Amino acid sequence: MIQTPDSATGTDTTDDARFRADVREWLSENLNGRFRELRGLGGPGREHEAFDERLEWDRHLAAAGWTCLGWPKRYGGRAATLRQQVIFHEEYAKANAPSRVSHVGEELCGPTLLAFGTEEQKQRFLPGIRAVTELWCQGYSEPGAGSDLAAVTTTARRDGDEWVVNGQKIWTSLAHLADWCFALCRTEPGSRRHHGLSYLLIPMKQPGIEVRPIVQLTGTAEFNEVFFDNARTAADLVVGAPGDGWRVAMGTLTFERGISTVGQQIRFARELANLEAVARDNGALENPVIADRFDQAWVGLRVLRAHALRTLASAHADVDARTAAGQASVSKLLWANWHRGLGELAMDVLGAPGLIAMPGDLNEWQRLFLFSRADTIYGGSNEVQRNIISERVLGLPREAR
Ligand SMILES: Cc1cc2nc3c(=O)[nH]c(=O)nc-3n(C[C@H](O)[C@H](O)[C@H](O)COP(=O)(O)OP(=O)(O)OC[C@H]3O[C@@H](n4cnc5c(N)ncnc54)[C@H](O)[C@@H]3O)c2cc1C
Repeated sequence: MIQTPDSATGTDTTDDARFRADVREWLSENLNGRFRELRGLGGPGREHEAFDERLEWDRHLAAAGWTCLGWPKRYGGRAATLRQQVIFHEEYAKANAPSRVSHVGEELCGPTLLAFGTEEQKQRFLPGIRAVTELWCQGYSEPGAGSDLAAVTTTARRDGDEWVVNGQKIWTSLAHLADWCFALCRTEPGSRRHHGLSYLLIPMKQPGIEVRPIVQLTGTAEFNEVFFDNARTAADLVVGAPGDGWRVAMGTLTFERGISTVGQQIRFARELANLEAVARDNGALENPVIADRFDQAWVGLRVLRAHALRTLASAHADVDARTAAGQASVSKLLWANWHRGLGELAMDVLGAPGLIAMPGDLNEWQRLFLFSRADTIYGGSNEVQRNIISERVLGLPREAR
């Protein structure tokens, strides 16, 4: 049974209850007709599913004012409270509405521009993110700079009123569909580590950029190599001061573990309930070890929900940076390990038939098993999260460099 309490604490205020009813009613009226078939589609590892139709759905949401809820009204948002945003994501997930195609823009780039951008940048880019007319990708990782992001070597040099960008990014999710990239580039020649970096906004559709998709274990290609060969962007499209890109880039990462993770747990609960139904049908649930793993998975879900809500509350309260970093890392570790464990449980429930698959023709459990291996890597690997907890929160000695 999927247990989804109404609100973070179990009780909505009158205003919140009204807001919840509005969201529920709108979704039940609109997730119909041509949008009905989109239920449950998309998400990590499944971004290829009905992409054009989900883009249309995102724009439909936007036209009704259901994107970028927490943004200030003057930038097209609703100035929704934290509780309202949580409610929206809960109801959205309960309705099994499709995963959003515009999440990089809405959840990463938009909040970064609101926090660090100039008024001109906000006026130029926020409307396109809110209306889902411009899609974004995140150009951080490079072949030699992943966990160690400060090792970025992609360069940008000023040439008149433009930046000229050279180098390579990798694992860039949805770059093949994006109109814009926010990229961390080295703009001060000879600079080292987190000094001399700048956060540039770069148009993707130009001759100086080549995007090469990387096929994953699942047989689909959602992330890419991105090559910059004298690519250009305007001089004023640097967020924050030139050379101060590290601070801005870290700001974006704090938004990455945001409110949408509350909806994620409802989707996880649905996956677990569906897998339990498979285990009941094929008899796997009669195995006490499997049954025990299901029990543990249900308990794990409650634990990670509690942590996610605590992390969210902290992000909007005045907690010190050390506590916030520790909570975010614990949340990431919890959900990533939980979900990867669900993929492993799925394989054990399927038994030998689960081992039979044709490339590119996987059932949902095989896809889950293969893609969830990535959960403990993207957004900061398990090892990196443990380093953060041990060094910054527990005060253990820093690792040797
Ligand atoms: C599905 C997916 C989508 C992604 N999307 C994007 C995207 O859109 N944009 C983007 O910029 N990046 C993206 N990434 C890249 C992601 O951020 C990196 O994969 C991640 O930061 C790890 O970097 P790496 O792959 O270079 O591995 P490495 O950093 O080389 O790590 C290799 C291994 O060493 C371990 N390790 C590294 N450093 C330490 C240490 N100090 N102590 C202990 N262990 C360590 C790691 O945990 C890992 O197990 C995506 C990755 C995946 C899997």
